[in-house]
Amino acid sequence: MSRKPFVAGNWKMHNTLADARALMKDIRGQYDPESGVDVAVCTPFTLLYPMGRELDGMTIMLGAQNVHFESKGAFTGEISPEMLVHAGCKYVIIGHSERRHVFGETDELIAKKVIAAQKVGLSVIFCVGETLDERESGRTDEIVTGQIGRAIIADLDASLLTIAYEPVWAIGTGKTASPEIAQEVHAVIRRKIGEIFDPAVAGAMRIQYGGSVKPGNAADLMACEDVDGALIGGACLAARDFVSIISAVAGSCA
Ligand code: PEP
Repeated sequence: MSRKPFVAGNWKMHNTLADARALMKDIRGQYDPESGVDVAVCTPFTLLYPMGRELDGMTIMLGAQNVHFESKGAFTGEISPEMLVHAGCKYVIIGHSERRHVFGETDELIAKKVIAAQKVGLSVIFCVGETLDERESGRTDEIVTGQIGRAIIADLDASLLTIAYEPVWAIGTGKTASPEIAQEVHAVIRRKIGEIFDPAVAGAMRIQYGGSVKPGNAADLMACEDVDGALIGGACLAARDFVSIISAVAGSCA
């Protein structure tokens, strides 16, 4: 089954408008739009609208890092799925470990967000991953399949879904999962997706790896059979690193 690789940069809470424009200019200068890789940048809310305009006509797509499940109302500080679409978003990250662990998002809340996002046509990058304790106690498979099982239901549109396996112990730590670990967990995730939908859907679904992906380790990770791209934090803030990871993905996943 051939799946088009997908690289998304998660800018987290970084970049002013001036920084963002400079970064996009550098990315544009170095990036090969014919690389055969889908590419998205997930910016802070304040940058979505101007970045949507900046990316207009480019093959790089826009994503957000969070969303609320209601379409409007008295939800101070929140942003609705419709607002993201109007700002030009195609993607939204849901279930990122920082949302789960720093902001206390529950599986129940995350499940509502996934449904609400898809309802307006947003593609969801759904993050799962185990903590170090969970890995060391041999619970990785149970944790990631549980996170998927409590939010991903057969009624969802699988074509609007990417799974990102992001071991919590690898995010922003400089510790990357070995290709063997990544492949093992990605295969578990694909089997779980097959149980929820069916094997053909699972075979077509893209599963990204995320957690300290850098230009130096991207090719080995991306060479794994079930790894279809990357969700990148720190390294996506430097154009040269981001583009070089995209090239590694193009060379290894294709
Ligand atoms: C992330 O936050 O999604 C991430 C993968 O971060 P980093 O690449 O910095 O580990």
